[in-house]
Order: sequence, then C-alpha cells, then structure tokens
Amino acid sequence: MRLDNERPSDNIEDRRGENVGFNFPRGRGPGMRIPIGRRGGGMGLGTLAILLVVAWLLGINPLDLLTGGNVQLPGQLPGSVDTQAPRQTQTASDDKMKDFVARVLGSTERTWDRIFSDRGQRYVKPRLVLFTGYVNSACGMAQSAMGPFYCPGDSKVYIDLSFYRDLSAKLGAPGDFPEAYVIAHEVGHHVQNLLGIADKVNAARQRMSQVQANALSVRMELQADCFAGVWAKQADLTGHILEKGDIEEGLNAASAIGDDRLQRRTQGRVVPDSFTHGTSAQRVRWFKQGYDSGEMGRCNTFNTSQL
Ligand SMILES: [Zn+2]
Repeated sequence: MRLDNERPSDNIEDRRGENVGFNFPRGRGPGMRIPIGRRGGGMGLGTLAILLVVAWLLGINPLDLLTGGNVQLPGQLPGSVDTQAPRQTQTASDDKMKDFVARVLGSTERTWDRIFSDRGQRYVKPRLVLFTGYVNSACGMAQSAMGPFYCPGDSKVYIDLSFYRDLSAKLGAPGDFPEAYVIAHEVGHHVQNLLGIADKVNAARQRMSQVQANALSVRMELQADCFAGVWAKQADLTGHILEKGDIEEGLNAASAIGDDRLQRRTQGRVVPDSFTHGTSAQRVRWFKQGYDSGEMGRCNTFNTSQL
C-alpha cells in the first residue's frame, strides 16, 4: 500500500502498557472464560495462538464474553485458559504499526465522510484504541485474546497490534493490505452502527434461535467485509493507495478467515449452522462486491437470497 500521502487520524487513543500486570479476578463476576480448552489434552502454544485469533474471527461477541453469556466456539468444549502475560515494551516496529493504523483510519474517515455527505448524512468518526493485554471499554473489560473488536457503546475500535503477527504467521494472510482490511472491517461495523443496522440486527437476534441468530450474524459480518471493499475502492480512486498485489492479498485474507476454513483447521470438521462470519467463498465474494462496485448500496447482505 502507498499511505505516504494519507494524513494520519487524530482519533487514536494509545493505551498500550496501561493494564500491564492487571489480572482478571478469577471465579467471580462476569464470566471472562475464553472457552477454548479441550478435554483432557494440553494445547501447544501455536494451537493456542490460532484459537485466540479464531475467537475473534468467529465473531464471538465481546458483549457475550463480558456479560457472562455462554459463548462457546463451535464444536469445542468449555474450559478456561490462563491469560497470557502482556508484553511490557514497545518496539520501533510497534510505532511504525501505530503510524500505519493511524493513516488507514484517516483514510477511512475521509472516505466515509464523503460517502455519508453524498447521502446527505453526517459521518461521526470512530476512535481507535491501541492496547496491550487488557482494555476497559463501554462493552466491559476485554482482553487481546478476543482479537480486534468494535464496541457500539462507545463507538470505538479496539486492537492489540500483536494480532497482526498472528494474522500473518498463523493464518497465512501476510501483507499490509490485510492489516488495513482488519481496520476497515471494524470501521464497517461502525458504519452499521451509525446507520442503525447494528441496533436492528441485535434486537432481532434476541428473538431468534441460536441458529437463526448465527445466520443473521453472518449477514452482518459479510456486510462489514463489503464495506471494507467499498473503502478500498473509494480510497484508491481518490488517494491511489493500492499497489499491485494488494487486492490479491486482501482476497487471500478474506479466504483465510472464512468460517469453514477456520473450523476445518481448528477442529477438523465444518459445522455450517455455527458459522457467524460466513464461508471463505462468501467473504471473498462480498469484499469483492464492495471493491468492484465501490458502492455501499451494493452491500445489502440482508436482502439477498444468495450470500
Ligand atoms: Zn466483524
């Protein structure tokens, strides 16, 4: 990507290092169990890292985790895992990453600001919080193991930059564009929040069976992928941010984080009813739909029989 000409956003809150040494109280309060254990077996660090990323990618709602909702990765048995010790130092490459994230966020601000004003609406910018280990949000206390997330309660995107290492090394989605795509996807959830889509979907999910709620979640996530594609296209039209190979990297990333691919990788089988983000093919298709059209009107994942 070429981001030299992209003005970094001011809406970054650097809270890295704040909660170093913080320990979740164990055995009381809202359940902070990350149910990724397996019966009777130890887990290698590599497996653990993959599962932590998967928790995010499978769309485990931070709210569920924080309010004691009984969240469970599909096909896996509940168990608790000690939280990892947060890193205590920031490196030069972390600061480079911060600059990268700020430029990507700045680009999403300008793009969505323009799209909203074309529709006669006002785009209220989200803030992005960098943290290490743990962070307090309007959605409750969250840990980096949950992966990047958007909290509608405070309109903030939260990310521990260590996630990017796993994205590249564990999930096989290297490159700067996939890193930007993660931000753009979370900003996509912010757009859904501004448009009132998030409220409607969350209200509807309360009245449904788990299987139906999962299906609705898939539509929500695929729309965020589509919005990420819209951003990529529009930002490139105005700022020429894309380089050769970027979109291919993005499509590879969308494919790498499909529910079917992740489930096959972590549990050896695929349970479609438990999908919350969509298959690899669907994620690729909706990212591409957003990118090819550059129009958010083409991202109506709720009104299509063919996802
Ligand atoms: Zn999402």
